[in-house]
Amino acid sequence: MPTQTINGVAAPTLGEFDVINPATGTPFATAPEATREQVGQAFQAAAQAFPAWCDDEDFRRAKLREASAAIAANADELTGLLSRESGKTAQFAGFEVPVAVGWLAYYADLDLPRELLRDDETARVELIRRPVGVVGAITPWNMPIGLAFFKIAPALRAGNTVVLKPSPFTPLSTLRFGEILREILPPGVLNIVSGGDQVGQWLVEHPLARKISFTGSVDAGRSVNISAANDFKRVTLELGGNDAAIVLDDVDVAQIVPGLFWSAFFNNGQACALIKRVYVPRRLYTDVVDALAGVATSTVVGDPTDPATQLGPVANLPQIQRVTGLVDKALENGATAAAGGRPLDRPGYFMEPTIVADIADGTPLVDEEQFGPALPIIAYDDLDDAVTRANGTDFGLGASVWTADPGRGARIAEKLQAGTTWVNTHASLGPTVPFGGRKHSGLGVENGPWGLEAYTDLQVVHVNRGTPGPSAG
Ligand code: NAD
Repeated sequence: MPTQTINGVAAPTLGEFDVINPATGTPFATAPEATREQVGQAFQAAAQAFPAWCDDEDFRRAKLREASAAIAANADELTGLLSRESGKTAQFAGFEVPVAVGWLAYYADLDLPRELLRDDETARVELIRRPVGVVGAITPWNMPIGLAFFKIAPALRAGNTVVLKPSPFTPLSTLRFGEILREILPPGVLNIVSGGDQVGQWLVEHPLARKISFTGSVDAGRSVNISAANDFKRVTLELGGNDAAIVLDDVDVAQIVPGLFWSAFFNNGQACALIKRVYVPRRLYTDVVDALAGVATSTVVGDPTDPATQLGPVANLPQIQRVTGLVDKALENGATAAAGGRPLDRPGYFMEPTIVADIADGTPLVDEEQFGPALPIIAYDDLDDAVTRANGTDFGLGASVWTADPGRGARIAEKLQAGTTWVNTHASLGPTVPFGGRKHSGLGVENGPWGLEAYTDLQVVHVNRGTPGPSAG
């Protein structure tokens, strides 16, 4: 069993919980459950490590490069562990280690420039960015390695130290990369604790945390935001989405449907910025539904370790219960399953890729975030109305427009209220491009220089060149 990392060494395991393989529905390992005292020790270690770590920028850059190489060297082990705890196929599990490797390398090379605001005979005024101190980072189960490095890489590069907690559904790959990085980072710079939501709350409440970087659901994000406000901790909140795709009347259905399908069913629909509802012109409705249903029924669902498998199980029991519940409710209320609709009759949390037709806004499957392999398709008669309906939600993470005319698509994309709006693609992310949500989908962004600045506070350094004393200007 991988151990927690506190102050550069393995922390004793004082309690533990089961980790379930979603492909079998049975436990295959245990993970340590952190005590409140251990969370405190992790913050103490991070606070102690902070002054030296923040002092030497060249050392930090070098250590991030070494960390990137060490993660790359252990890719197979980390990916295998991730696949077992999350049910990801090799394709989707294989997507994450390169994120860790790439983000560490990107931030190692990125500068955090100083700005000269004034330089004259009376004063030199410079704007610098200082690390905030100790960062508490909390991740969800759907992309545990990749999303952790969206936080770790810029936080460490900026000079902060980190206490990270993964989801209790997928703790093992995170604990393991913590062990690997123990060999590289100075003690206390990156601490990994594991456990349930309560452990997350302890991170958020801890007085030594100066920033909380949280990725997860809207409800948990709200609670984090409220708790962090008590002592003015900075927050970055990357929360849920209910991304709309709007298909325009000019599309070639056969050409767009495979891309549309996989922009919704990537990782079994379990990513924040995937298509979660599709608006289709009534004239093309049957064609689009039939074509999506065709792809869904030909998709191979099964054992994630079988190379022929395209979609493995849903990642955990509460999630498959949620998705099947939303689908059942929609079907009870008159919607039709153009493809799928049911869990598979086998052990584990498998579900048929499901396309739900004859459904409208106002149905929970359309209005809420399903986060799984079920996609509602909604007909529209008027494009402006479709845009209004796409925007008629508290979510604002992503959205996309599918069209034969990219210029027209871009004009409509600008009207969609979301952090990222794509044309003829969805969920395309990269280290250099900011990613974040509007409205209830989050606060702040990750990635790019903006994601680095989010781990700093602005500081003005004003050097008076005139008579020492108070200055009039
Ligand atoms: P979740 O909110 O239940 O849990 C996320 C993490 O927060 C876990 O580690 C959990 O233990 C912890 N946690 C839960 N309640 C907490 C609290 N009150 N205080 C502190 N920590 C708490 O989410 P999940 O089910 O693990 O993940 C799925 C959700 O994450 C979806 O809503 C999805 O859209 C969202 N998500 C968002 C992004 C993004 O970048 N915007 C990316 C991936 C996932």
